[in-house]
Amino acid sequence: MSDSVRVRFAPSPTGKLHIGGARTAIYNWAFARANGGTFILRIDDTDPTRSTDENTQIILRAMRWLGLDWDEGPEVGGDFGPYSQTERLNLYKQTAERLLAEGKAYPCFCTPEQLAADREAAQARKDPFQGYQRRCRDLSPEEAQARIDAGEPYVLRIKVPEDRGNVVINDAVHGEVTFDAKELDDFVIFRSDGTPTYNFATVVDDALMGITHVIRGDDHLSNTPRQVMVYEAMGAPVPVFAHISMILGADGKKLSKRHGATSVEEYRDAGYLSDAFVNYLALLGWSLDGETTVIPRDVLASQFSLERISKNPATFDPKKLDWMNAEYINAMSNADFADQIMLPELLKAGLIKEGFEADAAWLDALAEIVRPRTKMPADAATVAAPVFATAETLAYDEKSVSKGLAKEGMGAVLDAARTALEAVTDWTAENIDGALEPLPEVLDVKKRLVFGAVRVAECGNMVSPPLGETMALIGRDDCLARIDRARPMAL
Ligand code: GLU
Repeated sequence: MSDSVRVRFAPSPTGKLHIGGARTAIYNWAFARANGGTFILRIDDTDPTRSTDENTQIILRAMRWLGLDWDEGPEVGGDFGPYSQTERLNLYKQTAERLLAEGKAYPCFCTPEQLAADREAAQARKDPFQGYQRRCRDLSPEEAQARIDAGEPYVLRIKVPEDRGNVVINDAVHGEVTFDAKELDDFVIFRSDGTPTYNFATVVDDALMGITHVIRGDDHLSNTPRQVMVYEAMGAPVPVFAHISMILGADGKKLSKRHGATSVEEYRDAGYLSDAFVNYLALLGWSLDGETTVIPRDVLASQFSLERISKNPATFDPKKLDWMNAEYINAMSNADFADQIMLPELLKAGLIKEGFEADAAWLDALAEIVRPRTKMPADAATVAAPVFATAETLAYDEKSVSKGLAKEGMGAVLDAARTALEAVTDWTAENIDGALEPLPEVLDVKKRLVFGAVRVAECGNMVSPPLGETMALIGRDDCLARIDRARPMAL
């Protein structure tokens, strides 16, 4: 494909950016990047009652967090602006006037009562076409002008050509979809209050912005034949359409608030990594090769293709998203993990203070054991907490104490462990493990019980990271002091 690909994401700022919109944005972005094209962000704010600047800001923020940089649009500008519909009213008016002058659109003066009466009559005579009965289509231009001059309210309608026949849309996802132009109303393109309708404004924008591919949710598929009528009336080339399937919840119903968090912001705030989130959403209806699941952003941006978009609805599975997030965390280097996740989380949890400094090797060893146990960023603080406690402040989990310490024979285990550990001079994970290793045999106590007791004594719980590594990080003196503190809990 040439470098002339131009695609757009056109959210209506009537709410936050949701998962479905984010996926549409990702597909448009990736398609532009994969084809050396241009990704345009346009704010469809023609519904003044529901659009707010605040929502626009929220959407821009979400786009930035997703890492979907736009080449033209709000804040970056471009040659085809302005990039919000409320600033483009003149363009809609000019286009409508041209269509009016060319006889491709006409004013309609029918009152709501008239329209309702026509609809009822059509129902009564079982007319298969129950839409607008084209009452004003053949008014002479003089009569129409006289009524406009007399101040009669009117809308503008598009004139669907009588002999248009089938409108065939060659959708990149759905294949050929055929609509009969006879079924299409001479639909309204301008309301009586002087605002354009979605089907008109969108096409004027897409045509004037030179959009080559329209990638959007398939809830808009039924609008497409009407939009094609507008392109044709304007004499503009019709873009390629790619209508992507809905995203469903686990119950097979359209994803909504009932299924939990739906806005991008909520996922950002919950600590998901942008890269993992984008990867996961990209797979909701698209695949690289049918099996690869971890698809880094640069691969997505070079390999994305419309051919691999599925027709079938995708199911949003929060567990898979969590899995993906853990994959991305686990794939980080220790240094990145420490900087981007562990230290910020430790700070948030109050385990360290601003300006915290640590020996690089020590920090690397900590990241090494915490990283694989971190599925969500906040886990890092939970996993690392015992390391940041002291013998005095360590919290003992009651269940772990009763299961691991408050048992016959565990007192002797702790005593033997203390003696063995005291003999370790070079306090490394290996030496610590080496000191504890012979105890089960010497004491004739199951290995699981020996290590369980020491683990609870040192970490306060049974689920902490590998013992030797953790104890090495805690330090010799504090480890011995923890055994002393735990000793009275053991029997
Ligand atoms: N503003 C419309 C929406 O959010 C855009 C639809 C389209 O892409 O044409 O649904």
